[in-house]
Amino acid sequence: MAIRNILKIGDETLNKKSREVAEIDKRIITLLDDMAETLYDSKGVGLAAPQVGVLKRVVVIDVGNGIIELINPRIISASDELIDDIEGCLSVPERWGYVERPKAVTVRATDRDGNEFEVTGEELLARAFCHELDHLDGHLFVEKVSEYYIPDEQQE
Ligand code: ZN
Repeated sequence: MAIRNILKIGDETLNKKSREVAEIDKRIITLLDDMAETLYDSKGVGLAAPQVGVLKRVVVIDVGNGIIELINPRIISASDELIDDIEGCLSVPERWGYVERPKAVTVRATDRDGNEFEVTGEELLARAFCHELDHLDGHLFVEKVSEYYIPDEQQE
């Protein structure tokens, strides 16, 4: 496994649409392993492949309950209820802002063994699903921020 470099806002790769994974080969398995290691190294909650410069529809998330690997994920249902909460991104250092996301989201994806599965997330996990899947379509959370959040120690 290896820690990969995380691209930062301004890199145009982050604005591009990622391609579906056609075949789960050794490169995809290595990508998943490296992305998990990179996520834990950076103490993030989620990471999408375009953030490490790979335009493929691959995401890893861990909100504290173990790694969730998503290949070709898509949102199949989302609650009408929205929650406005603080969000950040490993590609957007030192910036946090309020974004409205559905309270609950169900995602269908493929795992590393090629099996389709569904997973439902609420609160932070739902937010992570929406945030990471946005990356696969070239979108960053800053496009959706209603108000930036400034931590106390940075206020003057
Ligand atoms: Zn992000």
